[in-house]
Amino acid sequence: MAKYPFIQEAKEWVKNEKISIEEILNDAVYERARIRAVERVEEAMEHGIINNAGCINQTDCMMEIFSYPIARMIVVSIESDFLLRRYALAEAKKAYENLKNENREIIEYIAKEFAIEIKNGTIHFSDYLKYAPTWDIRWKLVNRIMNKGYIQLSYREITRLLQEAIRKKIQNELFYMFSPPDVKKIFNEFIIKMKNKLALKGDKKFEGEASFKDFPPCIKNLISAVKSGINVPHVGRFTLVTFLNAIGMPLEEILKIFSNSPDFNEEKTRYQIEHITGRISGTIYSVPKCSTIRTWGLCEPDELCKKVNHPLFYYRIKRRKK
Ligand code: SF4
Repeated sequence: MAKYPFIQEAKEWVKNEKISIEEILNDAVYERARIRAVERVEEAMEHGIINNAGCINQTDCMMEIFSYPIARMIVVSIESDFLLRRYALAEAKKAYENLKNENREIIEYIAKEFAIEIKNGTIHFSDYLKYAPTWDIRWKLVNRIMNKGYIQLSYREITRLLQEAIRKKIQNELFYMFSPPDVKKIFNEFIIKMKNKLALKGDKKFEGEASFKDFPPCIKNLISAVKSGINVPHVGRFTLVTFLNAIGMPLEEILKIFSNSPDFNEEKTRYQIEHITGRISGTIYSVPKCSTIRTWGLCEPDELCKKVNHPLFYYRIKRRKK
């Protein structure tokens, strides 16, 4: 479970331990797990792969297992699609490195997690197509021998497919995950450090009109209102700033949007934006959920809105379709 903390069994184990999120995040007992969680995220960012912690005893393994959900909460709190993808891949690569040294039983056990059935070293072509890196000529279906819908693979090749299955699973889970607000407080310094690193790497470069098209209706309406000089209530400005910050719009760009407000005061607006985005307050405020935005009367849903409960999900779904 410590090696493969994404499997159902590990999740069940964490659940059965009946330890609250508050305890994991605050209790001194779990400090090692928190340190390891930060390490996981940092290694994913810096090296694109996470190293094995080397569990010597049961406590080490427990801390390793707990570090995984904490690391996920940190990644989600950083609100970077780039990091989210990189982290999912880094966890998958770590699993791949471990799987390469496992016996067949373990490989088959992990494969079952993804409903991949391995029959005498063969897998069904539909699973193959789902997970094989077919951009590589060696993995093209035409270069494989298929017998009654099943493709013969070596166990090493099966582990490569599992890497992709793991990556997809982790990435999908993270896309739809929320992190408790406490995570931002507890790991504030680290989160800001990572955001700065990501900004230096050119992550979340705002793509102007292309991004605007993918905004949910509530955000589009708020931008139109601000741009056309309509006075937007405080909660609307708050929603707008948190959203634009979360998708990576630079402060100056956000400021430019507000420059059309009838009561625009550059110094005051800059201060407010810096406060909401954590630059001076130390707290990065989260984008409000749809239910909250609805109570403020700022929600004007379209078809896609039926599938989401958060404006960022709307945006992510639109971006993923590209
Ligand atoms: S449902 Fe959510 S995303 Fe859609 S307009 Fe309303 S608040 Fe915005």
